[in-house]
Amino acid sequence: MLRTAPERFESPEWVRISMASAIVLRFRSGRFSRDFPFGGINLLLQYEDGCRSDCAYCGLARTRPGTYTEKSFIRVDWPLVSTDDLVERMARYESALTRLCISMVTHGRAYADTCEIIRRIRRRVQTPLSVLVAPPTLTRERLQHFKDLGADMIGVGLDAVTESLFRRLRTDVPAGGLRWSNYWQVISWGREVFGPWKVNCHTLVGLGESDRDLVELFVRLRDRQIYAYLFSFNPEPDSRMGLHPKAPLTRWRRIQLVKFLVETEGFGMEHFRFHEDGTLAAIAAPRALVEQAVSSGLPFLTNGCPGADGRPGCTRPYGSYRPSEPFRDYPFVPTPEDLQVIRAQLALDEILPSPATTPAGGPVPSRPPELG
Ligand code: SF4
Repeated sequence: MLRTAPERFESPEWVRISMASAIVLRFRSGRFSRDFPFGGINLLLQYEDGCRSDCAYCGLARTRPGTYTEKSFIRVDWPLVSTDDLVERMARYESALTRLCISMVTHGRAYADTCEIIRRIRRRVQTPLSVLVAPPTLTRERLQHFKDLGADMIGVGLDAVTESLFRRLRTDVPAGGLRWSNYWQVISWGREVFGPWKVNCHTLVGLGESDRDLVELFVRLRDRQIYAYLFSFNPEPDSRMGLHPKAPLTRWRRIQLVKFLVETEGFGMEHFRFHEDGTLAAIAAPRALVEQAVSSGLPFLTNGCPGADGRPGCTRPYGSYRPSEPFRDYPFVPTPEDLQVIRAQLALDEILPSPATTPAGGPVPSRPPELG
């Protein structure tokens, strides 16, 4: 049963779930604006004193006005539910579920409570399970323990893609203290413990990074068989970046396309040209190859941990945009009509000069399993 947020109801007995998850598990009534199968369930740990971090862009930030329970996360409300009720619903609707995910927060109890919630889920439900980890709470042994308990993937919310941006938005802030080196240590441990294509980095587009910064990170992660999952910065009202604009749609579409070319076609830095300020100027590749990628619609899907069948399992509808706004990423393969819109947004002619040059050869890393 869905409850209004009472005081002192905390994890592990209580968790918050995304509104889309609440709809799928029939905690809330509602529908999506388009009809598509959806089975990704996202949980968030719940503490009265909230997340101890204070990232400038995050809805859960410690110094953002309001109690933790009232705060939105990626701009939507996350209803509070009893963990046991939730697991019961997961078991009831398991055949429709594709991926489960527990989002930790930076809190002293987060590790122990995440373990307990994994145990409760695994006793009843076998749907693939990820943990979106909070690096300050973890060690290599703790990551191994998540795996032993039944999680098969982890995500790391790097968000800011350069050290200077990370420092500015997550370290040198009122209640900051997250460390870039600590995040990369956890990424490395995660890669060792969980294996190739079982770790992902959440990367936010629109925090102030350049296109070149993003592409360098995509290549670096791809070479280590780690996914980069894209999110479009979406300002949270009253957060310190509440008035910061979103990335323009054309930039966002091009970044989606470029990441796809890096991850699935083995493109490296040599395939891209940049202006002096780091903005993407051109893709040095045969036009037909790029057109084929666009026509598949796959670059524009929501990035998320896969389901058991290898297709996207965590698709977070409206995670990067409001229902009233144009789709940023698609929780389904875009239709021909969607592709028309996407092509107009991409303005490919500006970055694919004709005749296109053929890229230099080079080692091509193995493809991610679900895209191979
Ligand atoms: S992509 Fe989804 S399932 Fe994977 S770590 Fe991120 S939120 Fe969790």
